[in-house]
Amino acid sequence: MQCPFCNHMEDKVVDSRLSKEGQVIRRRRECLNCERRYTTYERVEEILPMVIKKDGRREVFDRQKIFSGLKKACEKRPVSVDLLESIVEQIEKKIPEMGFTEIDSRILGEEVMRRLHDLDQVAYVRFASVYREFKDINQFMSELKSLLAEPGSIDGVLSGEKPVAQGPTSGKAKEPSLV
Ligand SMILES: [Zn+2]
Repeated sequence: MQCPFCNHMEDKVVDSRLSKEGQVIRRRRECLNCERRYTTYERVEEILPMVIKKDGRREVFDRQKIFSGLKKACEKRPVSVDLLESIVEQIEKKIPEMGFTEIDSRILGEEVMRRLHDLDQVAYVRFASVYREFKDINQFMSELKSLLAEPGSIDGVLSGEKPVAQGPTSGKAKEPSLV
C-alpha cells in the first residue's frame, strides 16, 4: 500500500480487524519510511451478475432499484425501512450463490415477491400487480383468491387506499420500477 503521506510503497500491518458483519477488514498500517500510520478497508469484490431486462438489454445490478420498488409497494404499510433493507441484503447475498453471470430480471422480481408475500399481503399484491403485469382482471382475481385462501391474510387488499391493479381498459401497466 502506498503511504498517503510520503508515497513510500512499503508498510507493515500493525492491526487487523474484521467488521461486525464479517465483510470488511480494517487494517491499521505503518509506513516503513516515515512511520506514520493510516487505515485501509478491504472488502471482497462483489461479483454480482448483470441483469437482463425484459427488452434484452443488460444492466448492472442496482440494489437501489430493488429498494425503491419495495418502498413503493410498502407505502403506508406497517413495514419498517430496516426490514426492507434486510430484504435487499438477502437478495444481494443470494444472487452470487445462484452462480449466474447474467440474471433475468424476472428471477429478481420473483425473489422480491416471495419475501413480500411472507411480509405483507397488501405490499405483495401491489408489487405483483405492477411487476407481473396481469394480462386481465381474471388473472388478477385468481391471484387474489389464492391469497384469500390463506388464513389470516389479505386484510385491506380490496379496501386499500390505492388501486392495486388496473383494469383491462386502462392500457399498459405502469413500468415496474424493478426492471
Ligand atoms: Zn510514509
